[in-house]
Amino acid sequence: MSTRTVYADNNATTMVAPEVAEAMQPYFTELYGNPSSMHLFGGQVKKYIDQAREQVAALLQADPSEIVFTSCGTESDNAAIQGVLAAQPEKKHIITSRVEHPAVKNVFQHLGKNGYRVTELTVDRDGQLDLDELREKLDGDTALVSVMWANNETGVIFPIQQVAEISRQAGAAFHTDAVQAAGKIDIDLKNTPIDLLSISGHKLHAPKGIGALYVRKGTHCVPFIMGGHQEHGRRAGTENVPYIVGLGKACELALQHMEEENTTVKALRDRLETELLEKALDASINGDRKHRLPNTANISFKYIEGESILILLSEVGIAASSGSACTSGSLEPSHVLRAMGVPFTRVHGSVRFSLSRYNTDDDIDYIIENMLRIENRLREISPFGRDELNAGS
Ligand code: PLP
Repeated sequence: MSTRTVYADNNATTMVAPEVAEAMQPYFTELYGNPSSMHLFGGQVKKYIDQAREQVAALLQADPSEIVFTSCGTESDNAAIQGVLAAQPEKKHIITSRVEHPAVKNVFQHLGKNGYRVTELTVDRDGQLDLDELREKLDGDTALVSVMWANNETGVIFPIQQVAEISRQAGAAFHTDAVQAAGKIDIDLKNTPIDLLSISGHKLHAPKGIGALYVRKGTHCVPFIMGGHQEHGRRAGTENVPYIVGLGKACELALQHMEEENTTVKALRDRLETELLEKALDASINGDRKHRLPNTANISFKYIEGESILILLSEVGIAASSGSACTSGSLEPSHVLRAMGVPFTRVHGSVRFSLSRYNTDDDIDYIIENMLRIENRLREISPFGRDELNAGS
């Protein structure tokens, strides 16, 4: 086991920022009252929830009253989709894309088996949507369009402003899963006609188990979890105060570090890609290189197995993930890369490196050095070794 760790799997989850952990601490042992209590000991906590709501709203350029705290990105996605459909039961057509995270994909699949007509928009070889296809598929029966802002596997950013405008013109509600986009790129809900938007704490240096759903003022959304009056009746359950405070702090930090994410982190990612493309025998980038998250590199090494790469990377302390199989414990190769038409020989050899502001130049050197060594080693034992690639097969 290596003594060094290089964490390059930030699209899977992130380290809790030290400032976030520190901000949360008092709410476990000192300010632990129930914010709904009549007594001051509990009641005083409410203002910290309000403060966190303001911090989340600031990151999204939304009004604090439009933010609902949830337990995670998956809950936010479910609450948005199910809630908005329950509010307009007469409409039975719903639209999504082929490359959604299971938190949306599986909800649509379930709805498809329960009376809804589901349209899955295709993507091209770069993983991009065709807006004309969206225009064609929308009709008077379309209740909802749910399309992610940025893809977790490739980092591809969809043209959300246009998707939202087109959906609104057609009279459909629009939800976006912004779990990967939030904190990495600018989100301006004042000027983008999005009705509902999901975020998750653990993708932006807050803990796992906290998320938020933005619900635009005036959007009809039937509560998904019913019970007490918390969150103005939009999401029942005693508030998870420490985690809500943590999410607020993480959003505040994300806003402060946005510039760094798009300069320093992007430069690290770009160097990683450039050097691997240059020095590996056969490597290629998956996803639209112009419209991509600054931290994500999805790279295919033709003819070698992503799993083998990951295991060997892990042996030297590098954490990354693979799009070839087992990304989420399933044995299926990535539905995202397949939807993009990436050939099987490349899907199987795909590795995702996702960086954060905690990565350094040294980390990138270490990844490059080890990745090239691993590629070399695996090509030696691959039935399609270096000779075939050199011969152009
Ligand atoms: N949506 C996207 C795009 C994701 O990447 C993830 C997590 O990987 C989720 C939703 C689910 O978020 P959570 O783990 O907070 O439920």
